[in-house]
Amino acid sequence: ANAVLSSYGTTIFTVMSKLAQEHGAVNLGQGFPEGLEPPAVLRAAAEAAEGGPHQYPPMMGIPALRQAIAAHDRHFYSLDLDPETEVMVTSGATEALADALFGLIEPGDEVVLIEPLYDSYLPIVRRAGGIPRTVRIEPPDWTLPREALAAAFSDRTKAIILNSPTNPSGTVFDTDELAFIADLVQRHDTYAICDEVYEHLVFDGRRHVPLMTLPGMRDRCVRIGSAGKTFSLTSWKVGYIVAAPALLTPIAKTHQFLTFTTPTCLQTAVAFGLGQDPAVLDQLAVDMAARRDRLATGLRGIGFPVMDCAGTYFLTVDIRGVGFTGTDEEFCRHITVEAGVTAVPVSAFYQDRAAAPPHYARFCFAKLDSALDEAVRRLGQHF
Ligand code: PMP
Ligand code: GLN
Repeated sequence: ANAVLSSYGTTIFTVMSKLAQEHGAVNLGQGFPEGLEPPAVLRAAAEAAEGGPHQYPPMMGIPALRQAIAAHDRHFYSLDLDPETEVMVTSGATEALADALFGLIEPGDEVVLIEPLYDSYLPIVRRAGGIPRTVRIEPPDWTLPREALAAAFSDRTKAIILNSPTNPSGTVFDTDELAFIADLVQRHDTYAICDEVYEHLVFDGRRHVPLMTLPGMRDRCVRIGSAGKTFSLTSWKVGYIVAAPALLTPIAKTHQFLTFTTPTCLQTAVAFGLGQDPAVLDQLAVDMAARRDRLATGLRGIGFPVMDCAGTYFLTVDIRGVGFTGTDEEFCRHITVEAGVTAVPVSAFYQDRAAAPPHYARFCFAKLDSALDEAVRRLGQHF
């Protein structure tokens, strides 16, 4: 077995969802939405599945979807992308991340990452032969540690992976922070792999700003999106990458040998979705913010300090607020088994779990009001 991959256990999302199912718990652990699947996009998929075609689509993605992604990025970010050479469709953002890392990282290259981080980054960086250099954002504010970040860059740095809005912390880096990162990337002549899957889940009147739109960054960024998040259809695994041709070409080489293509009917439906009135996507953030507030109010009422969430569909809470003295991992198991509510431990989002802050749990609020209310009721009864 490969030494890197065998050092990892089963992903926390799978572990906690299984436990939730075994105990009939309200599952606010694994991040997936409930009740937000857009009917028109579902119909478009059904029609495309009925009508075909059903054989291999073009390797880079169907033209309709690549054009829709370019139009989307023009509308929201004023980016001018050539759909022929600068847009590629992938089987989810997970594949996109792997394509980017395997396409760009040479063994021995250093990759800067910000912890807590999404769980697929480190294994793929390491399997690609990269050397992770992690810096931490710290609760409760999760602000960018500028000095530590600057110190993590060197002449061995090949790329930074930047996830904003950030899973699990719910942080959205502001334009000052982005400018600081952009400066480091340019000064060290490196790239940024930008995981922007939560681009349409930014709240309170703020707007997502891709690092790619900052001066000097157009040709240094690999921008990754996911229809799973944008249309609340996480099983579809339709993602995309936009990047300058010099970056996309090696990334596409990985894609051609890893998955090669993505189901045509789903690509067709996502193209339809992106072609709708863009106001639909703004509405998603409004709906989601109401769910955030509903769950935050409920959790605060029970005694949990709830950290600010500017984007994503995750809230992080301090478990000490209800007098829990064990670790976050113990807490998440405890509330699943004893209270019938599931969350995920934030320490699972660190390279060295034993050295991670052990007091935080992440709750997903992309759920029906009834599920959020039931979770709060159960936790309130328990604590
Ligand atoms: N990046 C982040 C930060 C995520 O939270 C997720 C979520 N599931 C992914 C990537 C993977 O997205 P996809 O389901 O499109 O592969
Ligand atoms: N991104 C989702 C989360 O953070 C789940 C992804 C997965 O299950 N692999 O919960």
